[in-house]
Amino acid sequence: MLLKDKVAIITGATRGIGRAIALRFAQEGCNIAFCGRSRSEQMIAVEQELQAFGIQAKGYAADVSHLESSQQFVNDAVADFGHIDILINNAGITDDAAIKRMTEAQWDNVLNNDLKSVFCMTKAVQPYMWKQGFGSIVNISSVVGIGGNVNQANYAAAKAGIIGFTKTAVKEMGARNIRINVVAPGFIATEMTGDVPEQLKTYWQTRIPLRRPGRPEEVANACLYYASELGSYNTGDVMHLCGGMEDA
Ligand code: NAD
Repeated sequence: MLLKDKVAIITGATRGIGRAIALRFAQEGCNIAFCGRSRSEQMIAVEQELQAFGIQAKGYAADVSHLESSQQFVNDAVADFGHIDILINNAGITDDAAIKRMTEAQWDNVLNNDLKSVFCMTKAVQPYMWKQGFGSIVNISSVVGIGGNVNQANYAAAKAGIIGFTKTAVKEMGARNIRINVVAPGFIATEMTGDVPEQLKTYWQTRIPLRRPGRPEEVANACLYYASELGSYNTGDVMHLCGGMEDA
């Protein structure tokens, strides 16, 4: 098992990619502290799914776009689990519009949930990882942060910002053996992409050489590589996980 007795904090893991990461890590013996905005039935169901692997798992209600809420989540997780080895910054949203129609609220909403959240959670775990002299952080960006995408200026800016943030954090924390890497998925079939119009889906799929969307489990495998000792000499990477999509 690649993560036996490790502790991972995963944001936004009640569904989609976050849930797939939590399940994959649990399969490798990892204990999981995860969050969603509220302690919903969905969260309790994921908690039970994870516990079925014989590991410790707990869901917390936290809004990671606020520093205080992020710190509370991390402190509660450390109190319950004892320490933290891994942070996966997965939580994110989209709120699409062309720049000419995008409101200030749409801009702020996406920047806060997708970029500020990465700052808040990294800042919250840093004291623990710094003190113990190790840690692995994986930030989920997007190919949209690399190549841009129509109607997603807010999302592209946030996801590109994650890369700049990561490159800096790597330089600040490397000497304490804290590794930070980015996984930038392309088109992954989840609830988030379920709303994309059929027409656009077809257009995207013709631009993917592998001719299919990615699966959440494939993103989870990339996270497992970086989070575990398999990626022990990787830091500052930006892995494009997009089936060879153009512009990525
Ligand atoms: P999703 O909407 O299914 O899941 C995201 C989860 O994050 C949700 O449960 C949501 O409630 C939670 N969340 C959002 N903001 C939060 C906050 N402030 N506090 C706590 N929880 C919060 O989305 P997904 O498709 O699973 O995407 C997961 C991540 O992967 C996102 O960062 C997304 O941008 C990124 N991504 C997704 C795709 C894709 O094609 N699905 C592609 C590239 C990148």
